[in-house]
Amino acid sequence: MFLALKSIELSGFKSFGKRSELVFTSPIASIVGPNGSGKSNVAEGFRFVLGEQSMKSMRSKKGEDLIWGGSPAMPRQNRASVKVVFDNSKRLLDIDFSEVVIERVVYRDGQNEYLMNGSQVRLKDVIRLLAGANIGGSGYQIISQGEADRILNASPRERREMVEDALGLKLYQHKKIESERKLEETGINIEKTKSLRRELAPHLHFLRQQVEKIEKARELKEELGSKLSEYLAREHAWITQEDARLSQEKEAHEYELRALTERLHEASAKKGGGVQTQVADMQSRVRELEGRLSEVRRRREEIARELGRAEGALEATNVTVESIVPVPHVRQFVREVDESLSNVERTEDVASLRSIVTDVRSRIRAFVDGLSGSAPQTNEEVRRDVERLSSALQQIEGEEAKLSTDIDMARAGIAQTREQSFAAERESVELESKIREVRSKLDAAHASRVQLAGLRQRFDEEVREGVALVGSALQSWDKDEIPEGALSEDRGEQDKRRRSIERLKIKIEESGVGNGDAVVKEFNQTKERDEFLAKELIDLEASAASLKDIIAELEKTIDEKFRDGLKHINDALRNFFQKLFGGGEASLKIEEPRRAKARKEDLDEETEEVIEEEDSMYAGLSVSVHLPRKKVHGLEVLSGGERALTSIALIFSMSQVNPPPFLILDETDAALDEANSKRYADMIRELGQKSQLIVITHNRATMAAAGELYGVTMGQDGVSKLLSVKLEEAERVAK
Ligand code: ATP
Repeated sequence: MFLALKSIELSGFKSFGKRSELVFTSPIASIVGPNGSGKSNVAEGFRFVLGEQSMKSMRSKKGEDLIWGGSPAMPRQNRASVKVVFDNSKRLLDIDFSEVVIERVVYRDGQNEYLMNGSQVRLKDVIRLLAGANIGGSGYQIISQGEADRILNASPRERREMVEDALGLKLYQHKKIESERKLEETGINIEKTKSLRRELAPHLHFLRQQVEKIEKARELKEELGSKLSEYLAREHAWITQEDARLSQEKEAHEYELRALTERLHEASAKKGGGVQTQVADMQSRVRELEGRLSEVRRRREEIARELGRAEGALEATNVTVESIVPVPHVRQFVREVDESLSNVERTEDVASLRSIVTDVRSRIRAFVDGLSGSAPQTNEEVRRDVERLSSALQQIEGEEAKLSTDIDMARAGIAQTREQSFAAERESVELESKIREVRSKLDAAHASRVQLAGLRQRFDEEVREGVALVGSALQSWDKDEIPEGALSEDRGEQDKRRRSIERLKIKIEESGVGNGDAVVKEFNQTKERDEFLAKELIDLEASAASLKDIIAELEKTIDEKFRDGLKHINDALRNFFQKLFGGGEASLKIEEPRRAKARKEDLDEETEEVIEEEDSMYAGLSVSVHLPRKKVHGLEVLSGGERALTSIALIFSMSQVNPPPFLILDETDAALDEANSKRYADMIRELGQKSQLIVITHNRATMAAAGELYGVTMGQDGVSKLLSVKLEEAERVAK
């Protein structure tokens, strides 16, 4: 027959101070030995290695109690270890090894170690592995000494656990517990995730609003950028044009001003101080000439008077003309003079007059020269005087005429000079007015240039401010082409543009957001996180739902398997019970959930507390017993032996449905009389066909049922020893 348990090795465990090994070769192994030799320690060795956590069930208080404590003959040890070897050729354990060695070690400090085929593992791993093979849990497979009726003493709930364990539902229970734990964790995570999202929400909301504002501001900035670009291009074109125009204008005005100033200088030179002295000089010359003229006149009159006197004297001497001058000669002379003088009457020209005068004089001189020699001596002197005086008169008259002419010329000169000065004055006045006009034009041009410089400065500032505000959104305004109409349109259009730009700037400023890159980044990160959490929440809720499904499914499976298994157990129980008691009836009954049964007012405080602890929907198991030939029934009325028999029947029936790989029974037969011991032995044999049995006993009938016997002895050194024995030997060893 296949044996799941190959061997157990105890080393430093309780009374096994030295390494001892039990190798199982028969389906039923019996361990025998005197009281206190260490048999129960072997059973506890099994408990220990299979992961028992209750110290009490190993008759200890702490881990240290499990370690060989030493004897006078042998010092104590620092570690206790128990090793079991499973035959896994049939994959009893869900692990890919044909042999599985499980070892547990405890140290004096209470530290535990679990090893699976030499590798350290967790307790959880051991329990899970064993549960898969229907080993472990409630420990119904290892019935400790005096614990046979534990199943009777157990609470309905514990009893149910044992049954579930026996039915191999532990694995489902573990899965269910695991799923419940996961569900709980998932619930916590859902709450955490929800609370994280709740925490995140206002921040996200705030950031979203900020980002919306930023986007609005960005749009406004773009708009501003294009408006500003157009405005600046137009402004630049206009300023450049204006600058050129004003420069030209200025140059033209300056040129004109220079020319006018030059002409003014020239005109100024023709008037003023120079002309005055010139006129004064000329006037003094006129005065001088006038003085000389009056002198000449005075002398001319003197000479005329002298001539009159001389001519009177000449007449007085009676000298006839014929006596002095031949008459034809005189007549010719007079004709010639008369002729010349008649010319005088006809001319106004001074020069002609002068030449006539000169001609007349020369005729007179020639006439006089013709007379000399022929004139009478007596009148000679008088005649000469008259001649001299006439000539003098003639001369002075000529002088007088010349002076008059000179004075007239001088006066004309003064008039001319004065006339020229007046003309220059008029021109100056005209020029000065023109200069004033040009100057004011120049001033106006200058003022325009100053104004234009102001505009240029404003323009530069607008460019700077624009770049600072809009940055790259300010498309290059500095293009070569001049925007349409930039040079011809009304300046009011630019003002309109500027006002619209100012309004935009105010809007952007009012939006109150700066660059915003950091905010956008934070928003994206926060949004991503929120989306991640939302997705996580969906995943978590999905996994919670699927866990609930799994749990429900498991509960359903457990419930079905439980009810089905219980039916089988009850069948077996009836059978075993009737065999042991020769009749009667025993069964396990599912209790109604206590919460549902008990009305609140019926419960005292204590009960309520108990129920609070229990799962209100959990239905426990109660044992119903009817002994044959006895009227009374119920567990309470059973004798010690009857209790032992009932529990044996229960334990055995439980292992019928889903036979465990092995069962360890520590003196479960202690309370049985001989007849019942025999029945017990028969049942052991029956059971041994389904499960490997390790039976600790003092009972010969039980020993006889075993295929192999091991004796436990304890020598003087207090160390338990294991040895294989024969039946006869065993009886001796057992005593
Ligand atoms: P019985 O037939 O009376 O039930 P038994 O064979 O089952 O006896 P055990 O109870 O297994 O005997 O062994 C008890 C013995 O083990 C006692 O003598 C006890 O002193 C010894 N023992 C228990 N723990 C230790 C330990 N840590 N170190 C040394 N000895 C120990």
